[in-house]
Amino acid sequence: MSKIVILGAGISGHVAATHLRRKLSKKHEVVVVSPNGNYQWVPSNIWVGIGRMKSEKILFPLEPLYKKKGIGFKQAKAISFFPEGDKNEYKPYVLAEYVKGDNVGQQEKITYDYLINATGPRLNFGATDGLIPGKNKTYSVCTYTHADHAWEGLNKVIEQMKAGKRAKILIGTGHAKSTCQGAAFEYILNVEKELCRHNVRDMAEVTWISNEYQLGDFGMDGMLLSYGSMTMKSHEMVEMIFEDRDIKWILGAGVNKIEDGLAHYENLEGEQKSETYDFAMLIPAFSGHGFKAYDKNKNDITEKLFKGFMIVDADYTQKPYEKWSVKDWPETYQNPSYKNIFAPGIAFAPPHAISKPRKSKNGTDISPAPPRTGMPSGITAKLVADNIIDSIKSGKESLKHKGSMGNMGAACIASAGYGLTKGSGVSITTFPIVPDYEKYPKTQGRQLGKTFGAIGLAGHWLKLALHYAFLYKAKMKPFWWLIPE
Ligand SMILES: Cc1cc2nc3c(=O)[nH]c(=O)nc-3n(C[C@H](O)[C@H](O)[C@H](O)COP(=O)(O)OP(=O)(O)OC[C@H]3O[C@@H](n4cnc5c(N)ncnc54)[C@H](O)[C@@H]3O)c2cc1C
Repeated sequence: MSKIVILGAGISGHVAATHLRRKLSKKHEVVVVSPNGNYQWVPSNIWVGIGRMKSEKILFPLEPLYKKKGIGFKQAKAISFFPEGDKNEYKPYVLAEYVKGDNVGQQEKITYDYLINATGPRLNFGATDGLIPGKNKTYSVCTYTHADHAWEGLNKVIEQMKAGKRAKILIGTGHAKSTCQGAAFEYILNVEKELCRHNVRDMAEVTWISNEYQLGDFGMDGMLLSYGSMTMKSHEMVEMIFEDRDIKWILGAGVNKIEDGLAHYENLEGEQKSETYDFAMLIPAFSGHGFKAYDKNKNDITEKLFKGFMIVDADYTQKPYEKWSVKDWPETYQNPSYKNIFAPGIAFAPPHAISKPRKSKNGTDISPAPPRTGMPSGITAKLVADNIIDSIKSGKESLKHKGSMGNMGAACIASAGYGLTKGSGVSITTFPIVPDYEKYPKTQGRQLGKTFGAIGLAGHWLKLALHYAFLYKAKMKPFWWLIPE
């Protein structure tokens, strides 16, 4: 009998837990450890943040589902890793602390045979002075509680505009190295549409602020897209969309300090500038959780497991941008030092950025960190689960399931607006996520036809369909496993 412990119940952790449970007999134990008692479908936070969907619609409690399906659940947060056990515990374990219930504050050694670290990113608001969700008129949509607050803030500004006060709205990245430009892009389009719906669009100045060098970089170095029968660069497409909606933009901006209604930033020219606003949604930097690891003698071995995020089978050799290769990216998400530990989704340390790194004239790094979107988070979690299942069933290590961000696609469907007839969508699909210049040398490392942009109501329908399909799948309703990741 094997015990598989999964840290985190986001897209990655939940996908891994559900597949493991379905394919392994009940003599094997599957245990999820996560501080949040709810599963949340993060992409729909955008609609929560514009007040068009209640946060209850994008979440459900995990414990009743896990109880019914035979998955163990501990509402606790992992603190440190002991992959060799210790003097009193011969099995590897994770030290976790309960965050709810009768045993809140208590710590437990949770032993395992296999460990899946699916703890995603730490939302590192602290990396930008004054960037605190709900304070200084800045908000976030990264979690459902943040998105609830964002709607409260936005609604207040909309009401002020209705009463005749003009307003400035600022949306984008809140740190020189933030990622998740796609989510901010989707939010700005939705906010702009809501302003129209509330008949206050002419009262608002809407501005995009981002660490991207060009619009449409999205942390993926931009892309050449098929657009109908033409090709178009992603920056041209986003420029067209922003111009059409009268959205202004500030690029190459490393936001470094927030005061009440004032965002300070440095640009690539090395100038220190600031922008005023009445409402801002700024994505923070993402970091690892700062976990520590120890060997059986309690010596610190953190560097064997973590490089900020968790170390996996990537090539972490420091190289200049010109030497970066799609082959640097991991395929099995297995830690090289401890082969029973895996890190799918956002929890693994990427070998390098995808966008060309840029510095300001003062030497400040200002360029997006690599994005890791929902689809790869689900796919990598499933392949990790499948390798563990094969290893358990065959009794020897099996790593035949592989998938790199260099042979995986990502779909960024930025729906704008809500409702079956009123919404519209901007869909940008990229294949592969990490450009492969050997396979696709003439099309900027991507396969045309599989890398495309589209604008229209269909994208919006697709986003809405995905919301329902993925919540159905997450709730493990009949035949849930037939819905792909
Ligand atoms: C607003 C928004 C919109 C987005 N829209 C899209 C989209 O349209 N399409 C798309 O593909 N992607 C989208 N994304 C990205 C997508 O949501 C992420 O790629 C995905 O959620 C990553 O999954 P994950 O499981 O790796 O991490 P997470 O979803 O962050 O899950 C991490 C889990 O770990 C838990 N955890 C944290 N700390 C600990 C600890 N110490 N111990 C144990 N557990 C811990 C957390 O509670 C959580 O359950 C969007 C992201 C945002 C913020």
